[in-house]
Amino acid sequence: MQSKLLLWYDQEGRTLPWRVRPEDRAAGIKADPYAVWLSEIMLQQTTVPHAKPYWRKFLEAYPTVTELANADRDQVLAMWAGLGYYARARNLHKCAGVIRDDYAGEFPQSEAELLKLPGIGPYTAATLAAICFDEATNIVDGNVERVISRIFRIDAPLPKARPEYRCMAATLAPKKRPGDYGQALMDLGATLCTPRNPKCDLCPWQNDCAAHKGNCETDYPKKIKKVKLPVRYGAAFVLISDEHVMLQRRPDKGLLGGMMGFPGTDWSSELSEPLNAAPIPRNWEKCEGEVKHVFTHFELRLDVYRAEIANRDAEGIWAPLNSIKSFALPTVMTKVLSLAQK
Ligand code: SF4
Repeated sequence: MQSKLLLWYDQEGRTLPWRVRPEDRAAGIKADPYAVWLSEIMLQQTTVPHAKPYWRKFLEAYPTVTELANADRDQVLAMWAGLGYYARARNLHKCAGVIRDDYAGEFPQSEAELLKLPGIGPYTAATLAAICFDEATNIVDGNVERVISRIFRIDAPLPKARPEYRCMAATLAPKKRPGDYGQALMDLGATLCTPRNPKCDLCPWQNDCAAHKGNCETDYPKKIKKVKLPVRYGAAFVLISDEHVMLQRRPDKGLLGGMMGFPGTDWSSELSEPLNAAPIPRNWEKCEGEVKHVFTHFELRLDVYRAEIANRDAEGIWAPLNSIKSFALPTVMTKVLSLAQK
């Protein structure tokens, strides 16, 4: 099975800007751990087409991990704006600082050492160690779980049975070409063994796949049914003065920690007396409609209030509207601004 998959990867694997193709690897070109790490962190919650321009932008601005570590954190967050899940950007910067200070600017070369770095979990450590340092690790992400569940027809549902999926994946992981094998498996999941309509006719493992033999590919992976997300409510206040808006930095801890945002209420299951949370007493006008935004654990609905003042004397960070992009507003806050400007 390993040879079949690797042969398929040699011919059909995706060409990605951070990836060293097998023929280049054979010619002695090595993967750059910094470039691969950046891509892996970005791809955690983002699609390849969306991540590509950000990856290029980061490498242009910070060509090495030390330059990223030396950069101002706010600039890094601003460059990340639009990719979502901002804890990743904060950890990215923190991790770069640890590599600069504790590892002389070089990535550690083993899965065990990589796991000690902030923001690097088991999947990323296994991937970096295999792709960049040829360590025979067991790379398992969502795509791989889907392939493995079908190959073995694993009936135990995700996410609870994740360790079982890892064990089964480990029975296939090879000692040779571990990086190419891991990338091949991820490519198989991303391009052929897709959630709906898998292209089994093109699959190098069609004769080894239990779900294909049983004609029940899309019954796998089994999942525990998702519960409906709870809804939280809140209000945000957009104070405008002379083509500027007033922003506040959110506390480091918690959701959107360290990001810029508009002042507002807490987000809770009920919204009462929102105007008590207004940054200054004013004749606040409630904007028509509401902002809806889905976070991992809840759906947020925000009422938006706006007011204009003549002088920028309220306490906050006054951002010029014509350069608001440089203030790293998270997506939910750009939605707030759009509603206030309608
Ligand atoms: S045969 Fe089909 S279901 Fe099985 S691994 Fe290949 S693409 Fe996935």
